[in-house]
Amino acid sequence: MERKQYQLGDIVQMKKPHPCGTNEMEIIRLGMDIRIKCVGCKHSVLVPRAKFESKLKKVLRSNAEPSADA
Ligand SMILES: [Zn+2]
Repeated sequence: MERKQYQLGDIVQMKKPHPCGTNEMEIIRLGMDIRIKCVGCKHSVLVPRAKFESKLKKVLRSNAEPSADA
């Protein structure tokens, strides 16, 4: 089973796009709850970690490892 790894500053894709049409969210706070900010409209939401992980589709860009195909 694949484990999703994410950290502060990562750009992630959720299963459902934001109402504004953008499907890229930036992780701006990590804790018991996770705050993500829509890249498109800058709206931010606070979601419990379990809910975030269930809605997370994939990590698009990680802050930690520079992308090789950038
Ligand atoms: Zn948005």
